Amino acid sequence: MSKKEAKKLEEYKDPIIFYCKDCSEIVDTIRLGGKYIYKCKKCGTKNVAFGTPKSLRGYFRLDEKEAKQEREEIRRQKARGDKSADKL
Ligand SMILES: [Zn+2]
Repeated sequence: MSKKEAKKLEEYKDPIIFYCKDCSEIVDTIRLGGKYIYKCKKCGTKNVAFGTPKSLRGYFRLDEKEAKQEREEIRRQKARGDKSADKL
């Protein structure tokens, strides 16, 4: 696979998604004219941000819940580790 193809695949893997700041969720949008302005299909505002799922998640902390679960798991693992090292 060429580098170009690999990049294409990566782009395909990370499609652009839309996040409505008013609805506080990922929404479908209507594109207005030929410009990069998108209207939320749900509430109709233009208060819509767009980007890759990765960038939007980072920006709007959409994965906060997942991150919390991850931290919880690390904490549990640490607790187990501490126990085995515990000399009391
Ligand atoms: Zn909306």
